[in-house]
Amino acid sequence: MSDGYKLVIGHFYPDLLNLYGDRGNVLALYRRASLRGIDVSIRSISVADELDPSMIDIAFIGGGQDSEQNIMSDDLVRVKGPLIKDMIEDGKVFLCICGGYQMLGKYYKEHTGDIVECLGALDYYTEARSDRFINDTIYSLVLDDGSEVKVAGFENHSGRTYLGEGVKPFMKVLTGHGNNGEDGFEGAVYKNTFCSYSHGSLLPKNPAITDMLLSRAMKKRYGESFELAPLDSSTEDKARAAALEYIEKGKEKAP
Ligand code: GLN
Repeated sequence: MSDGYKLVIGHFYPDLLNLYGDRGNVLALYRRASLRGIDVSIRSISVADELDPSMIDIAFIGGGQDSEQNIMSDDLVRVKGPLIKDMIEDGKVFLCICGGYQMLGKYYKEHTGDIVECLGALDYYTEARSDRFINDTIYSLVLDDGSEVKVAGFENHSGRTYLGEGVKPFMKVLTGHGNNGEDGFEGAVYKNTFCSYSHGSLLPKNPAITDMLLSRAMKKRYGESFELAPLDSSTEDKARAAALEYIEKGKEKAP
């Protein structure tokens, strides 16, 4: 057991970036940490809230519409930006979904041509098109122990993201569109920052990713020798298997 250990999840802009059950990812982190006896808490950090990076072990930024991205852009880029960049460089664990993913990159160009200023913490950019990628998705992910798992997800975005040299793709697309519908990749990874287009079901249905993030955050706080206790995942595994079966059947039916 891990009694005596603490973990703080910082949920950024929960009032603005909260599409498609993105909070489910925060709840999955909370649940799988607390079941292991870790004293875990969630802090909301929105526009005008003070950010103390030393208090946060895992940062979560969810997805939002273009209009909401416009509202928080100034606070993200000019107020919290330098601290967030330092946290990323320092190897703090981040999970950023869809709009939150886009906002860490160099820029986001709306399909009107308007530019939403982004943080520029990671080496990619996003350009929106008038059509959206809306899909249940399946990805292939190589975990920290080298094993490969299928990940069930859901995407809904008009942005096409193109990765630069400074980041690696998070996963490979098996079903769906991923970053741009062209290169077969989904999301981005840099140090301990993980970005994905897959929304609120990502961690609840894929406990291996939840545990990878928890393990990295706990090692960062308590040292490399920290071992996350094993935890039953049979319910989550059943949910994922059902989702994968449903998506794969749908794929067979597609023309
Ligand atoms: N506004 C972005 C897009 O449509 C992000 C949407 C989202 O977070 N689902 O690409």
